[in-house]
Amino acid sequence: MPVGERNEAVTVVGAGLVGSLLSVFLARRGHTVEVLERRPDMRREVIDAGRSINLAISTRGLYALRQVGLEEEALRHAIPMRGRMIHPPKGALMYQPYGRDDSQHINSLSRAWLNKFLMSAAEATGKVRIRFRQRVSGADLDQGVLTVVDEATGEERREEGRVVFGTDGSGSAVRQALEKVPGFESTAETLGHGYKELTIPPGPGGAFQMEKHALHIWPRGTYMLIALPNEDGSFTCTLFLPWKGPVSFESLDSPARLEAFFEEQFPDAKALIPDLTQAFFARPTGSMVTVKCAPWNVGGKAVVLGDAAHAIVPFFGQGMNCGFEDCTVLEGLLGKGGDWETLFGELARLRKTNADAIADMAVENFVEMRDSTGNPRFLLEKAVEKV
Ligand code: FAD
Repeated sequence: MPVGERNEAVTVVGAGLVGSLLSVFLARRGHTVEVLERRPDMRREVIDAGRSINLAISTRGLYALRQVGLEEEALRHAIPMRGRMIHPPKGALMYQPYGRDDSQHINSLSRAWLNKFLMSAAEATGKVRIRFRQRVSGADLDQGVLTVVDEATGEERREEGRVVFGTDGSGSAVRQALEKVPGFESTAETLGHGYKELTIPPGPGGAFQMEKHALHIWPRGTYMLIALPNEDGSFTCTLFLPWKGPVSFESLDSPARLEAFFEEQFPDAKALIPDLTQAFFARPTGSMVTVKCAPWNVGGKAVVLGDAAHAIVPFFGQGMNCGFEDCTVLEGLLGKGGDWETLFGELARLRKTNADAIADMAVENFVEMRDSTGNPRFLLEKAVEKV
């Protein structure tokens, strides 16, 4: 049946950033959307929003929000970052503006705030129902069947008969189900680096303790620290470090080693992170993965979007932005009508090459930074030129 000619009920798996925004787009086209989300409702319970505390939203992402009237409110909560502030091991800070004037900037935004905002916007359409603590544990997508576990009761049930949109992130259960379909190919490559988040708290009276309108970078070759500002005056720092090796998460195995490392490499940041040791050893270390797959769909029955289709390591800050762009392109295709199979095939044709290219460039940038051991100036420039 043509996509644009009925108010069909569809299922979205995952109410993360992409699934929530996608639901808004689908609802505006008249579809009734049931969203299955494995976590509790983060608007009512304090839970980790997952991965980075804040992220950079740029033109791709903002354009998608603009299509559904959400850009303005999002920007009200964002902090423009107009350039990079480089913190060399010694000597003065170096500021590199992103553009010729301040209008060219990226924006730091809280992941949790954005996710909650998008979930509420989806529900406000009156056509989206998000069901929390509902984990998709498997699927027979050829038959249009999802297996769902109610995390509150442990009960398992089958859901069938609906078109499925898999926006359940890099470890996607929907993509794993696609792997059972003959001809489907997928790769997931984990980086040899992990990341740890640390916090620079606000100063007296909520003041920012470093330049507010900049993305701060401490490039050091095989590792790097970055910091993005938050609305409350704090900064979220992310330390990217190899899992193993002479300077690694493995080698920083005691408070004394950690403190000495920060004192030598990031003394100005260390002075601003009062709970460095406690936070470093208490907080989880995240991993980063590149995911590619093809095709993105099973006929007209299911499709994957966002990280489920193309997880991207964060060295370009483009993972979410690309996922939002999937939604923009899907919206254009929904406007043309046609059946789901044609639409999903066209979506992948328009998006896959670009998404995979950005994923490759993000890894290349990472590898270049990791392997360059020569001229410190070269290192510094390479490390920052694409962040
Ligand atoms: P997710 O955000 O992973 O959401 C998936 C959702 O599905 C979650 O709510 C999850 O609970 C749910 N789910 C998972 N499995 C199931 C299941 N089986 N059943 C039901 N629900 C399920 N991108 C940027 O654009 N800019 C940045 O600055 C940026 N910084 C980053 C920094 C770091 C350190 C990292 C790791 C990533 C960064 N990214 C950034 C990438 C960005 O985080 C992802 O691209 C984005 O979160 C993808 O959104 P998503 O909705 O596809 O997946």
